[in-house]
Amino acid sequence: MPLVNPLPMLLAAREGRYAIGAFNVVDYMTIEAVVRAAEERRAPVIVQTSSGTIKRFGVKAIARMAADIAGPSPAQVALHLDHGTDRAALREAIVSGYTSVMIDASKHPFEENIRRTKDVVEEAHARGLSVEGEIGVVAGVEDDIVVRRDRAIYTTPEEAIAFQERTGVDFLAAAIGTAHGFYKTEPKLDIDTLAAIRERTRFPLVIHGGTGLAPDVVRRLVAAGGSKFNLSTQIKQTYIESLHGYIEGHREECDILKVLKHAHDRLKVMIGEYIALLGGEGKA
Ligand SMILES: [Zn+2]
Repeated sequence: MPLVNPLPMLLAAREGRYAIGAFNVVDYMTIEAVVRAAEERRAPVIVQTSSGTIKRFGVKAIARMAADIAGPSPAQVALHLDHGTDRAALREAIVSGYTSVMIDASKHPFEENIRRTKDVVEEAHARGLSVEGEIGVVAGVEDDIVVRRDRAIYTTPEEAIAFQERTGVDFLAAAIGTAHGFYKTEPKLDIDTLAAIRERTRFPLVIHGGTGLAPDVVRRLVAAGGSKFNLSTQIKQTYIESLHGYIEGHREECDILKVLKHAHDRLKVMIGEYIALLGGEGKA
């Protein structure tokens, strides 16, 4: 079916206390792996791209690929821009077939974050897209955004409520101690604050930095109110490792499509397992 706005699926997830997997894709094959996993698990999914991926392929090319793959599929697939910091790139995504965008102005002071977010919300809503905002600061490395662990700022419920009211943002990334990239030490997660924000609001909350969290921690984050769960680093790692593994064992193989098919299958299995862990199976 055509790409869908992710807001209805996220609101249903919020009500049902499960989470929608938002998977960072890097090419045609990774988009296909996400969509096939969604079909197999009968789950709604979000395909999302970082600024690095759109710089590499262009927003229009990604939007076309995603629409081509989702079109003939029965799966509900949304196409989301992750961590949009560049206003021109955000505009391009809004007019090129993305169904939601994240405006990440979290490095700016609160009032400036509100101003920049509201500006994107107005443009996106006028075209039928939904918008994710961020307050507080998620630690780690996300393309060109680098935040040291000790500089991460946790979100408070009061800020989350004020921010949503003043910007009209549809769903919100709350900084509660998860980080981008791999965890070098056990993360200190503020699951109570996540639950407190959920109790006092009506909009879906987003967990960034999903890679490397123990399954039990993921279940607790979802139970506490995380309705969108972002997974990026794990996808890149599974992709690279499956290529390494296959090539090691098949040094003579010269059919690149066979090599890529192997990586695709491994990715599809891993993504399907995350969908099940998030409770999204059978929710489409
Ligand atoms: Zn993120």
